[in-house]
Amino acid sequence: MSISNCDILIQGGGPVGLACATWCLQKYPEAKLVLVDRNPIDDADLALADSRGIALSHGSKLLLDTINAWPKECADIHRVHVSQAGRFGRALMNREELGQDALGHIIRYRDIHLALRQALRAIQSEIKPTASHFAWLHINKDTEHLNIQAKCVVHAEGGLFQKQDWVESGRDYDQSALVGLVEVENAAAHQAWERFTSEGPLAILPSHYGNNILNLVWCGSPESSQERLNFSDADFLVALQNAFGSRVGRFLKIQDRRLYALGLNYRKEITRGNEVWIGNAAQTLHPVAGQGLNLGLRDAFLLAETLVEIFSNLEEEQTPPHIENALAKYAKSRKADRATTIGLTDFMARVFTSNLLPIVIGRGLALSALQWLPPVKTALARQMMFGRR
Ligand SMILES: Cc1cc2nc3c(=O)[nH]c(=O)nc-3n(C[C@H](O)[C@H](O)[C@H](O)COP(=O)(O)OP(=O)(O)OC[C@H]3O[C@@H](n4cnc5c(N)ncnc54)[C@H](O)[C@@H]3O)c2cc1C
Repeated sequence: MSISNCDILIQGGGPVGLACATWCLQKYPEAKLVLVDRNPIDDADLALADSRGIALSHGSKLLLDTINAWPKECADIHRVHVSQAGRFGRALMNREELGQDALGHIIRYRDIHLALRQALRAIQSEIKPTASHFAWLHINKDTEHLNIQAKCVVHAEGGLFQKQDWVESGRDYDQSALVGLVEVENAAAHQAWERFTSEGPLAILPSHYGNNILNLVWCGSPESSQERLNFSDADFLVALQNAFGSRVGRFLKIQDRRLYALGLNYRKEITRGNEVWIGNAAQTLHPVAGQGLNLGLRDAFLLAETLVEIFSNLEEEQTPPHIENALAKYAKSRKADRATTIGLTDFMARVFTSNLLPIVIGRGLALSALQWLPPVKTALARQMMFGRR
């Protein structure tokens, strides 16, 4: 295969693009596929990259297990405690209620990224060189001007809110997330905390570093988040203790603070002709419900199934509209899961940051209702774990 002429071109070598390429090759090793990746070739160059903790659901674990891409370093969540700072209403959820080994898993972004790169290389090495038509192209000065023609273009360029070169539908929550690793005195093992403060959600999540080192995701206004980023460690710990209270224990140390702007940016149409958008390139979400990558992996998995079906049966002369129709069918199949996940995340991001009294009371009642209505709680947890099917 000539690189400049392929069946499938995947643009973006983040977790979602890598996963899509790996599932395509696993199911159809002869795929004429090119992956264009802006990241360096050498894994060692990513060793110090983005270390924020990402919550992956059990559903994502099952998907990643199919390609041996589950990272070794991960922390399991057995219980979640949700509450509002200074207000009534709380909900508790544990793995026994759901009949699962874990409610979710926390993994560093870079570990997911690296595990997927290794999974793709492993699949690549299993394909006989004579049968392989796969090329993994890292953008550099020799390749950046290559004009690659493809029968189908998959956009997996991802990106963070306010850093993407497209804006379609959505909302600026006027919030930033400050993430970091916080050390706590005698923290309970496998426990996740989500506390809704007047400025936004504050989550404290397990990490693979041990029971007392926890991942922090503190959402607040851009101004106060920036201020907290600049605080001395001692001032930061006092502010955190004041905002969170004493439930989790005494905060002792903070490290690796980083800031991310938060908003919702999503495409109403995820296909156009022979192009398709997945992962953050299709929708960028607020992290309040920890759903962005989980949804992106489901996009990638189902798109890979569609692409394999199209291209493993495609006759040489067949081009659009055959491909366009199949992609339109894929888009239709993603509608309910995308709409539910985007809608639920947007709802939580707005409702849990409002200080209007009726909403404050309403969310207290909603949390209490969750606690006392197990079927509602289970249904919500299942949506978070497996998406809408
Ligand atoms: C603070 C924070 C916390 C989060 N927490 C969670 C969580 O708990 N759970 C969860 O599920 N999600 C979470 N998310 C969301 C999650 O990080 C994203 O949904 C996920 O990273 C999307 O993966 P992606 O591959 O689509 O995009 P990215 O991770 O953005 O990867 C895209 C890749 O494409 C490359 N690229 C860009 N343009 C090009 C191009 N033109 N050509 C080639 N390559 C290109 C980039 O270099 C990048 O490597 C969180 C997000 C934030 C900001």
